[in-house]
Amino acid sequence: HIIQPAEEMAAIIQQFDNIVIVAHGSPDGDAIGATGAMGSLVKALGKRFVLYNATGIPDYLEWVPLPGKLVTKPSAIPFKPGLIIVLDCGDAWRMGKELLAVFPEYPSVNIDHHLGNPMFASLGNWVDPGMAATGQMVAAVADAAGVPLTGELAQCVYLSLVSDTGSFTHGNTSAAVFTLAARLVANGLDAAAMREKLDNQWSMPKTKLWGKLMQTLSLECDGMVAVCPVTMEEIGSFGAVREDLEGFAEQMRRIKGVRVAVLIRQDPGNRCKLSLRSSGSDDVRSVAALFGGGGHLNAAGATIDDADMDAVTRQTIKAIQDITFGAGKEEKR
Ligand code: 5GP
Ligand code: MN
Ligand code: MN
Repeated sequence: HIIQPAEEMAAIIQQFDNIVIVAHGSPDGDAIGATGAMGSLVKALGKRFVLYNATGIPDYLEWVPLPGKLVTKPSAIPFKPGLIIVLDCGDAWRMGKELLAVFPEYPSVNIDHHLGNPMFASLGNWVDPGMAATGQMVAAVADAAGVPLTGELAQCVYLSLVSDTGSFTHGNTSAAVFTLAARLVANGLDAAAMREKLDNQWSMPKTKLWGKLMQTLSLECDGMVAVCPVTMEEIGSFGAVREDLEGFAEQMRRIKGVRVAVLIRQDPGNRCKLSLRSSGSDDVRSVAALFGGGGHLNAAGATIDDADMDAVTRQTIKAIQDITFGAGKEEKR
């Protein structure tokens, strides 16, 4: 019997108590789903635990049934950590700099699906870019630990799957993803009820902001690249928040002929956040990497300090021409 990575992770987790469970800051559905699912898992094993996220829970994920307290500062962790479980962080810094500062003092495991993850944990690193979502990996650890995929744990795994597969439509939507989703439904998960919480929650400010952006976005590279820079002022003028842009890059990819969507969001502190989306073999991760970012082949991002939005826009388009559509590659449509 070859020991599977999920079994190895389950075996490590069994050995420890006082567990800190953390995913990346500015969390998406997979980060919060994996956090909640792992929390339910260790709770089922009778462990003391705390959930951690450097930027807390965004409003649109407030409904998620988390199994315990979530803290945002190391000083709020109510015990001396026995083990830190890092989820959905392609790089250690994504757990947030305050936790990262004390991270080396404690045993840790790293469960993630980002290509290029530098395996930063001390006790074990399970990194598999073939996995669609980190929540899928947590489900495998639950299976290995004999914890059933029911109730709140199942809801969190489902949130992860829906978020990172674009509701079961991206290229990462494998047979294993459908099989896992089917198991969750067989165990009592109400997919229609989940949809009401996941999708049908748009605020009017978000709706109006998207309407404006649909009008201002532009096409480059003979219609193969859709570009949309968004300033803080624009977001604020509708009373919207920056999380309201989640999904807008996917929306731009819906335009016929668009191979790459580029969303450039201005953030406080002279920063900007780049989001790139593509499909098939169109590599946007390498473009994000030019700006110190990363992610997946078809979904990548970067956070850029001291950013000039116009310059970032121009450099990104140039990089897409050179790298994504680079020499030797055939056009796909
Ligand atoms: P999003 O555009 O939704 O923020 O992120 C898309 C993907 O790119 C995610 O898988 C995320 O992990 C990755 N990503 C987003 N922002 C950054 C970043 O600043 N640095 C790195 N390394 N990856 C990022
Ligand atoms: Mn994520
Ligand atoms: Mn993920």
